[in-house]
Amino acid sequence: MTLAHFLDGLRCACCGALNMLWLDPLRGLVECRECGQSALAFPEIGEAQ
Ligand SMILES: [Zn+2]
Repeated sequence: MTLAHFLDGLRCACCGALNMLWLDPLRGLVECRECGQSALAFPEIGEAQ
């Protein structure tokens, strides 16, 4: 059992891998299993401009 949620149908903005993104609910991050890139799950909060 994992706390991470597999994000189906989403593509990594960094490497373009499909269905390789995981949501880490504890940190509010989305991490790519392919390239290791992580990003805020809610970019409007992290980068309010
Ligand atoms: Zn990636």
